[in-house]
Amino acid sequence: MVGDAGGAGLDELYREIILEHYRSPRRKRHLEAPNRHADGSNPLCGDQIEVEAQVDDGRVADVGFTGQGCSISQASASLMSDYVVGKPVGDALAAVGAFQQMMTTGEAPAGVDLGDIEALLGVAKFPVRVKCASLGWKTLEQALKRGGDASEATPVTTDERSM
Ligand code: ZN
Repeated sequence: MVGDAGGAGLDELYREIILEHYRSPRRKRHLEAPNRHADGSNPLCGDQIEVEAQVDDGRVADVGFTGQGCSISQASASLMSDYVVGKPVGDALAAVGAFQQMMTTGEAPAGVDLGDIEALLGVAKFPVRVKCASLGWKTLEQALKRGGDASEATPVTTDERSM
């Protein structure tokens, strides 16, 4: 959906989407009966997030997140939560991959329509902010991959300076 014709107008639209999700985050609450859960943090910025999901019959029936952080981390988690609810777990994990690809390449992923999430495209230019934007996604990924077993609860971090 993103061509080269957008220019400043598109940037402005993207900024509005991000601010709107930051001010009124979707699904920012605890779930009543989550069966998936993971914690994540981005110490570089101070972002913290807890992602809960309810998975029924291989489908993400509900997602909620709580925590605090900068506008990018919060808006990204809000966009992510809205997007994956109702999707099969496989599709949700594919969206995580598509998002990470978008953050790496700075281009909308081919074959997956991420909708409003593409508002975060501009973040790809700023590696420090990529860690903020990726936090909710990586935490969701761990929650879904961990399955119902919460015993190996290693918190997720997007601070990869040691690599
Ligand atoms: Zn941040």
